[in-house]
Amino acid sequence: MSEKVSDFYCDEVFSGRTPVEKVLETENVLAYHHTRPFWPVHIVVVPKRHIASLLEADDAILIELFAVIKQVAATVSAEHGAARVLTNLGEYQDSKHLHFHVNSGEASR
Ligand SMILES: [Zn+2]
Repeated sequence: MSEKVSDFYCDEVFSGRTPVEKVLETENVLAYHHTRPFWPVHIVVVPKRHIASLLEADDAILIELFAVIKQVAATVSAEHGAARVLTNLGEYQDSKHLHFHVNSGEASR
């Protein structure tokens, strides 16, 4: 593992350095198509302010996050017949900014 603390969302997405294709946006939450998808359908749902992981998220942002996740997952599930909702913690978490993967299909890596 790299020792550098990686935060793709603050460094790239919210800075505007990496343009993203938005799926859904609320006041505090953004859903967009992953820039390097590893499932055939791969949407990322992130809080717009920095929250390190699920364990640091307060109830208010979780309610807003899950409202978006639910809506995105419902669409993916309806269009593709199945969906997963996933968040990683600890060494599994590549970018140290809370994010949920909504995906469908078999992983390519
Ligand atoms: Zn961040």
